[in-house]
Amino acid sequence: MVRLRIIEDYAYENNIPIMEKEGIDFLTNYIKEHNIKHILEIGSAIGYSAIKMALVDSNIKITTIERDEKRYKEALKNIKDFNLEDRINIILEDAFNVDLEESFDLIFIDAAKSQYIKFFEKFKKNLNLNGVIISDNLDFHGLVNGDYETYSRNVKGIVRKLKNYINFLKENEEFKTEFINIGDGIAITKRK
Ligand code: SAH
Ligand code: MG
Repeated sequence: MVRLRIIEDYAYENNIPIMEKEGIDFLTNYIKEHNIKHILEIGSAIGYSAIKMALVDSNIKITTIERDEKRYKEALKNIKDFNLEDRINIILEDAFNVDLEESFDLIFIDAAKSQYIKFFEKFKKNLNLNGVIISDNLDFHGLVNGDYETYSRNVKGIVRKLKNYINFLKENEEFKTEFINIGDGIAITKRK
């Protein structure tokens, strides 16, 4: 679809880390196969993944949170271009300040990589009993499973936090996780 191409190009030109093809294809197939209808996304960026998820089925409803105003505005414009404003509710706010009452079939965590445990702990109460939490970028460009010691302090910090998150998921007593080596590394987490 041409309009999706335009969003992809904008993301590339402006260094916005939208999901890559393999990852987004996996996510949208998962949504289709599991008949997922109600989605919460943490980290909208310019709305690309939210739009792709909404296009899977016309009964899908998405709440998505973005703290960066410029990205939020771009996302809003993109969502309107697709006439999806009735099905995608985008909130301009830091996710840690957002309190939701609803529960979701899928919570997609794709925001600040160093805060994944906190996002998980905050929003797990909004997950349906049979719901799933999907986390993106667990391999962080190959660095989590590779050599990252020569990188900047900032990158090293992120990689260590992601490793902590992976251990947190592996050792979790309440949830079980399947790690999938697709795209930039995806985790699929469900209640035990
Ligand atoms: N899901 C998008 C990409 C998201 S990139 C896609 O694939 O199309 C990650 C986004 O999360 C960034 O735009 C960043 O501003 C946002 N973000 C990071 N931490 C956040 C927080 N605490 N609350 C809300 N948004 C956050
Ligand atoms: Mg991502």
